[in-house]
Amino acid sequence: MAWFKRQSGELDSSGEKKVRTEGLWVKCEGCRQIIWKKDLEENLNICPKCDKHFRIDARARLAILLDDGEYETFSDNLSSTDPLKFVDLKPYAERLKRAQEETGLTDAVINARGELNGRPVIISAMEYGFIGGSMGSVVGEMITRAVELALESKQPIIIISASGGARMMEGVLSLMQLAKISAALAKLDEARVPYISVLTDPTTGGVTASFAMLGDLNIAEPGALIGFAGPRVIEQTIRQKLPPGFQRSEFLLEHGMLDAVVHRKEMKAYISRALEFMTPAASQASA
Ligand SMILES: [Zn+2]
Repeated sequence: MAWFKRQSGELDSSGEKKVRTEGLWVKCEGCRQIIWKKDLEENLNICPKCDKHFRIDARARLAILLDDGEYETFSDNLSSTDPLKFVDLKPYAERLKRAQEETGLTDAVINARGELNGRPVIISAMEYGFIGGSMGSVVGEMITRAVELALESKQPIIIISASGGARMMEGVLSLMQLAKISAALAKLDEARVPYISVLTDPTTGGVTASFAMLGDLNIAEPGALIGFAGPRVIEQTIRQKLPPGFQRSEFLLEHGMLDAVVHRKEMKAYISRALEFMTPAASQASA
């Protein structure tokens, strides 16, 4: 009956092409269905049809995890000084300014204090919308301060990663942050204060290579891209084809790199149970 046959069965959706729907509808990359944006938002930005977890910003993360969406931010007065006066396609200073205007943040992380099911916690939530959630000296310093506050207050810390890795515009100063945060986490470990790492889509590069994999518990959202180098670089290096699903949460769980893959809707309850288990004394005191 058909006048012509489409070879691949699907339209090529790569490139810049996007369905313009005046912001009311979005197309799911998972199942290619058109979803009413309001339905998506009410479902914590998870596709109601195929369960694909869409990316959400740092504020949405905090709102999901902290009781009544209430929290107090701290160390939010730091911003990068562009020490290398770095210029690529655009000056770094210009990129920073634009990202600050767009996100209303000084850099790619929010430090927050609040309660999670009644338990005081500290959360550092990374903002992918700020230069790809890249970790420069400010992100490194803010996360370190959050870890130090956890140490001082003996409150558990949760770090939610969403990052392309170290910020190349700050060169070696970005790389230093890997060591700095890791050292602070080692002190936290000695003091036996729990640290839960939540890896979200995407968590790559220097963030994976440092704090994101150093949690007492390393958990990820379903389908998140998690890795160090990108798949193309690895394929070219080892000259082998990578298996399907490589660098996705489920694959990493199967290969022992993660402790659990947790659905966004279950995340708060999961973390709450884990903290209950990790800090029995505190839960007895509050009981
Ligand atoms: Zn879908």
